[in-house]
Amino acid sequence: MSKVKKTIKSIKIDVDKCNGCRACEVICSAFHAAPKYSGNNPERSRIRVMYDPLRDLYVPVYAGQYTAAECMGRETYLIDGKEYDECGLCKAACPSRTLFHEPDSGLPLKCDMCEDDPPQEEPLCVQWCINDALVYEVREEEVEEDVKVEEIETGLESIIDKYGLQRVVDTVARMSKKG
Ligand code: SF4
Ligand code: SF4
Repeated sequence: MSKVKKTIKSIKIDVDKCNGCRACEVICSAFHAAPKYSGNNPERSRIRVMYDPLRDLYVPVYAGQYTAAECMGRETYLIDGKEYDECGLCKAACPSRTLFHEPDSGLPLKCDMCEDDPPQEEPLCVQWCINDALVYEVREEEVEEDVKVEEIETGLESIIDKYGLQRVVDTVARMSKKG
């Protein structure tokens, strides 16, 4: 199987620099509102800040792939003397929690690195984080040519299995009308 170069875009998160201001949630939900900048509901944001001020924990997490199955166990991570529970660090839109689900339809949300129309040169959450807790990184990797298509098909099948084809079609139609 031939290999192709793929550009990997990611956001490096420094939890020690995050102060829980939630500016990243505000700008993400505003940029993805329909019409754009018409609202800023954090429930629609593709980045969420898990916080526990009493333990000085602030963990920004951006939304990854939808997953059809929830984990069977829950790990606890001890990092620099602070305990983090696995769900708080997880970026999956998962069936066992409401996080990263569009409030109206329940459909999963996923970070698009602000490449929605018009695409941004640098993710807006990164630009709005004045504490430099979010750092945008771009690198090249070699991958099998058809991996991406398989991933998309599997993700789409899981979403249709869970929500039904008609609901997905209706939501996409509604969202494109608003835009
Ligand atoms: S904008 Fe930066 S400092 Fe504020 S909550 Fe988001 S990641 Fe944390
Ligand atoms: S990169 Fe853009 S879409 Fe992703 S979490 Fe940040 S603001 Fe939201």
